[in-house]
Amino acid sequence: MRIKNKMTTKFKRPDGRAIDELRPIEAKVGVVPNADGSAMYKSGDTIAIAAVYGPKKMHPQHQQNPLKGTLRCDYNMISFSVSDRIRPGKNRRSMEISEITKWALEPVLLLDKYQNQVIDVFIDIIQADAGTRCAGINAAAMALAHAGIPMKDMVSSVSVGKLDKTLVVDLTKEEEDFHEGEGPTDIPISMIHSGRITHMQLDGKIGVKQLKEAIDLGKIACEKVYEIQKKALKDAIDMENGGKE
Ligand code: UDP
Repeated sequence: MRIKNKMTTKFKRPDGRAIDELRPIEAKVGVVPNADGSAMYKSGDTIAIAAVYGPKKMHPQHQQNPLKGTLRCDYNMISFSVSDRIRPGKNRRSMEISEITKWALEPVLLLDKYQNQVIDVFIDIIQADAGTRCAGINAAAMALAHAGIPMKDMVSSVSVGKLDKTLVVDLTKEEEDFHEGEGPTDIPISMIHSGRITHMQLDGKIGVKQLKEAIDLGKIACEKVYEIQKKALKDAIDMENGGKE
């Protein structure tokens, strides 16, 4: 798919990436041995670790849902993930991101099978340079698959941005802080492999036409993320079967 992005040729990203280029990505599953499933997703200087526990009986009991299981997500940016130490514990931002992570992942899970049970997903951002909610969702989706929880499909997430008038993929913190012209717009998007969007947010301003272009860019980028997630899961299976690392 070709995206029309009129400003493309003139615009230079601070790190020299092409407008549709993701940061270097690393992904691995099985990074937390005590968890039922776990994964690491690294995009540039942003690193997310996800650990899955369950499905298990929901406690406290009054939170049990006899009709379906519950997905519980807990996103946390650890204190030393940025140069200015962050105050530990929950805040409004982390509670919001925990909730949207749940929205992003729930559509691929077969929660009907897990009446009265809970699947806990803990996401720790150990290093943050923007795009942490997307990295967390990518790691969490891989960790759920690694835990052997039946999923309809993988979820992949990426942030598309508009810097002044130009659309770019996978913003760094430096880009999120861009303040020339129309300034920055940040659009984190999570998608099922089929292309269906499970989560999208918009921080900034963008017209309808350019938003559609941003979604198309996001789809292409999520497809690249998906291939990396799939490879990490396949590598783990190969290793368990005594094959290569
Ligand atoms: N950030 C920070 N302190 C905070 C929250 C965020 O330094 O308390 C930085 C961090 O690098 C983060 C970036 O700001 O990745 C962008 O945060 P945002 O809330 O836009 O979410 P994200 O892009 O990480 O999903």
